Amino acid sequence: MTYHSLKTPSLKAEFSDALLSSLAPDGGLYMPDSLPSFSEDELAKLGAMSFPDCAAKLARHFVDDNFTDEDLEILCADAYDFDMPLKTLTGEILDPAMPEMVDEYILELFHGPTLAFKDFAARFMGRAASHLLKKTGETRTILVATSGDTGGAIGHSFLNQEGIKVFILYPEGGVSDVQQHQLTSMGEHSNIKAIQINGSFDDCQALVKQAFADKKLTKKHSLMSANSINVGRVIPQSFYYFWTSLQLKAAHPSRPIVYAIPSGNLGNLTGGLIARKMGAPIDVFVAGNNANHPFTDYLLSGEYTPRDSVPTLSNAMDIGRPNNFPRILDLFNSNHSEISQVCHGAHFSDAETEAHMKKIYRDTGYLMCPHTAIGHLALTDFVHGNDRNFTKVTVSTAHPAKFKDDVERVIEETISLPASLQASVDAASHKHVMTPTLTALKAYLNDHA
Ligand SMILES: *Cc1c(COP(=O)(O)O)cnc(C)c1O
Repeated sequence: MTYHSLKTPSLKAEFSDALLSSLAPDGGLYMPDSLPSFSEDELAKLGAMSFPDCAAKLARHFVDDNFTDEDLEILCADAYDFDMPLKTLTGEILDPAMPEMVDEYILELFHGPTLAFKDFAARFMGRAASHLLKKTGETRTILVATSGDTGGAIGHSFLNQEGIKVFILYPEGGVSDVQQHQLTSMGEHSNIKAIQINGSFDDCQALVKQAFADKKLTKKHSLMSANSINVGRVIPQSFYYFWTSLQLKAAHPSRPIVYAIPSGNLGNLTGGLIARKMGAPIDVFVAGNNANHPFTDYLLSGEYTPRDSVPTLSNAMDIGRPNNFPRILDLFNSNHSEISQVCHGAHFSDAETEAHMKKIYRDTGYLMCPHTAIGHLALTDFVHGNDRNFTKVTVSTAHPAKFKDDVERVIEETISLPASLQASVDAASHKHVMTPTLTALKAYLNDHA
């Protein structure tokens, strides 16, 4: 598959170059030149495979000759060695023999090692990059801005990998206590460094962009981005939509399918839209935003107004300038009316989010993280105004225990930490504190990259 820059479509790159360089030379985002499509027969076959096998088959269409079929099978089996259950609110897991009556699921994407959906993309990207660097003997310095979960997933995926150093930039006060422990506990002398920025997530993201715009700096350190500006993050996020929608269609053939996605940088939604374009049987996406809602405003009005972010309870979605918006426009040739037929959106305050988390927990026993609660609220809002009989899926993006303090306050009960999170909390913590300036970042990279 060849990729092109969204700024200058004639600027092309193979997958390996697009992955390792992150942005096109003109600063544009890479997008695949075309998307594969599949016949009904092929879809049935892909749906009958295990998820890692299906992912490897899909990946074949997006990578290049640096990966053999066997490389991809091994890569996906190794990356995706955890569950991704479709659960009902009362805890049953999708089973194609289930009665048609069940029409609502939570797709739990948080059973990877860092307990957030970011593991799906980070583990694919990490393994793909390591595979390529091993072949050529090159090295990379990875810069990643995180609103909470990306840094942990990327750090975990590259921990102790030779030839790779990772610098994680996170906003002071902008990540939960448990997330901060995850980011800062990967070892004082490991290849993963946590940098706390005195600023917002948008400041972190802007600083990473500035670093990449500095050609000398990029070259000197062989910088690579692990944010969703990198197409290697977005592509694997299409795989789980593709596979799970085929499972749902097999279980409930007559019903249209809607997925609700708690959204920030729009990488997860972009993955879903790519899956749909490849033939995944998904009719509608619903995007949920918090108080940072340039995207849901765009869906309603056609006007896109990026803005500074404000902090909320769903911190991983505190994004006022979503990176992937140009990719969504590209998928629809910038046609607002087509986008708004496929994507619906709604935004919610912290008070609404808290009330919903509490209500669902009281009514069903299901505990949602604040992000997932916004996805579920947006779904509820969409279904309310629609009389089609959908199979409804809320994409659950993180384990509630990652937001332990807020969750406990909201439900007025204590919750326990899964063993992996407890281990991060107990481990020694190391971080560097920095102002959001390129000068400060350059100095730190000089000393540590
Ligand atoms: C990253 C993240 C989101 C937002 O995903 P985008 O791809 O940036 O839209 C939502 N919820 C959680 C828990 C996240 O970590």
